Amino acid sequence: MIDGLRSFYQKYKKKFKFLRSFRLRIFLIISLVSVFSGEVIRRGIVEGFEESSVNNRTNEITALMRSMADHLVTYGYMQDTSSDVINAEISLFSNIFDGRIQVINTDFRVIKDTYEISVGKTIIGDEVIRASRNETVTDYNEELHFIEVALPVMGSMDENGVRQVEGVLLASASTVLILQDITILERRALLLEMLVCMIMIGLAMLLSGVLTRPFDHLKKAIGEVVSFEDETQIESDYLETEEIVDAFNRLRQRMKVLDDSRQDFVRNVSHELKTPIASVKVLADSLNGQEDAPVEVYRDFMQDITKEIDRENDIISDLLALVRMDKGESGLNIERTDVNELVESTVKRLGPLARKNEVDLIWDSRREVEADNDKVKMSLAISNLIENGIKYNKHPGWVKVVLDADHQFMMLEVSDSGIGIPEEDIDHIFERFYRVDKSHSREVGGTGLGLAITRKTILLHRGSIRVNSVPGEGCVFSVKVPLVHIGDRTGK
Ligand code: ADP
Repeated sequence: MIDGLRSFYQKYKKKFKFLRSFRLRIFLIISLVSVFSGEVIRRGIVEGFEESSVNNRTNEITALMRSMADHLVTYGYMQDTSSDVINAEISLFSNIFDGRIQVINTDFRVIKDTYEISVGKTIIGDEVIRASRNETVTDYNEELHFIEVALPVMGSMDENGVRQVEGVLLASASTVLILQDITILERRALLLEMLVCMIMIGLAMLLSGVLTRPFDHLKKAIGEVVSFEDETQIESDYLETEEIVDAFNRLRQRMKVLDDSRQDFVRNVSHELKTPIASVKVLADSLNGQEDAPVEVYRDFMQDITKEIDRENDIISDLLALVRMDKGESGLNIERTDVNELVESTVKRLGPLARKNEVDLIWDSRREVEADNDKVKMSLAISNLIENGIKYNKHPGWVKVVLDADHQFMMLEVSDSGIGIPEEDIDHIFERFYRVDKSHSREVGGTGLGLAITRKTILLHRGSIRVNSVPGEGCVFSVKVPLVHIGDRTGK
């Protein structure tokens, strides 16, 4: 059922797109509220009128009947119905309210009926019985359109001061006149209601346009923003649209930062990739320019050219590694890893470089550590840290790699006795292509991407990396990664 509704909704979503219009909804809400309240008011007026008319009429008849009941007793009518005065009064009253009057004695026998059809008959209706028990009963029969009043005829006071019920006066009056008035009133109220509704629907159309105009302005203004550089201020009328404008401006700001960094990155990449090629070209041109250059010179130049090609290759590999990691956690290949083994093999691999640079490489494993890691990426990240320690060191110098863990995290610390990082550069060293000393980094074979790759890897593993440094004395890089990998919330 729900699936059926959902597929129906999906199918007709585009077709009935207009139903999602804010303007249409405002129009519908105002129109419906107007029609509904118009109808309620109309019914209220008509019903109120009917109720008050019936009440007035009932009160009128009751008052007349009450005075007549007194006259009946005064003239002894309950015992003898020949009194002309009373008979005249009864017919007068029944004419006044266009109804029927029946006088009933204590035996529930009709002794007088203005319609002359029930005289002598017995009436044992509920209202008559209740009236004979000294109760005034009024009733409005909506279906047959008449009001009925039954009240007791109370005799004179006896020696004990008590008045006995001598009979019942039963009056019924038609409400046709009231109904005619109601029909007229209803017709007028309906006309008025229709008029008001039409005015309100027109107003709803106008209002829905006016109320949604700020959104149209906003849409137009946002559409006119052509680039992130565009600082045009967007005006807004409502608090809500102002909040949208604020959110848009914040987004614009963020996109600008992203766009700037993208442009920087593209500029850097082109520059970095062009540098080795330019060197190769210079070397090749100068070789071409030398006629009959000795083989040694050729060999020398060719070695330099190979070095530049290796460098180009390194930059491209690092860039590819970063791009692959930009895909997010889906690019990770997490498996249970013996971290001691992983670090140890990395340290071993870098041994020759350390020896070449006269750097003492110390490996200190505090305990056995097993963690969920992407072995290849983590090994590259750790290798970058140790390699930097070796590259940016003094000769002789040392690099110490310490692995430890608690019940939740593995901790890796790579410290060195090297040149250190100036305070103003610390915040930037993880940026792509950022280098404290370009020429030195180039000399030692850096691409400027190593720390960016390391940081990205650690973050993908939901860990953190910190650096402390005293310029001239060395650096300490501290890495903390959860032992158990918790994937992102989307389950990727
Ligand atoms: P590179 O390939 O140039 O080494 P990285 O991203 O690995 O690039 O490092 C960025 C910069 O941070 C380096 O150029 C260097 O200036 C500085 N740096 C990194 N590690 C160290 C370190 N252990 N000691 C001193 N400076 C370092």
